[in-house]
Amino acid sequence: MLQDDFITLTLEKKKNIALIAHDNKKHELICWCREHLEILKKHNLCGTGTTARMITDQTGLVVKGYNSGPLGGDQQIGAKIVEGRIDLVIFFADPLTAQPHDPDVKALLRISQVYDIPIANTKATADFIITSPLMETTYEHEVINFNKNVHDRANSL
Ligand code: PGA
Repeated sequence: MLQDDFITLTLEKKKNIALIAHDNKKHELICWCREHLEILKKHNLCGTGTTARMITDQTGLVVKGYNSGPLGGDQQIGAKIVEGRIDLVIFFADPLTAQPHDPDVKALLRISQVYDIPIANTKATADFIITSPLMETTYEHEVINFNKNVHDRANSL
């Protein structure tokens, strides 16, 4: 185990999906959730505080809410990715408005890459992902072996 540079992790059939939308995109994400309600019902949903509350209120989907994005919600979701508790992120980001928590948004994108977590930042990408046959199956992917990484760094620095 310690000798391999990568380890195989499995995204289960029932996926843990994080839903986030910037303010100007919240309506679009709620419409998207309604459109894909039957698929989303089959998975565990969570999201940043306001997005989660609005989706629950307006679609009836159960969405566990973390803090509001600008108050650390994106970082909480990033931490769950590190812990292997989030399998997929749907993030309707607003490219035309400056966000106070832009560093947190960048951090979430980065940590999703580090852990090879699918992340949709537009509606079209989200449509492609949510209708993928891989939503119905387990999916194995390779991520950096973090134990080996720490071991090697501690021994070489
Ligand atoms: P919110 O956060 O759902 O609490 O509005 C979203 C964000 O802007 O990151």
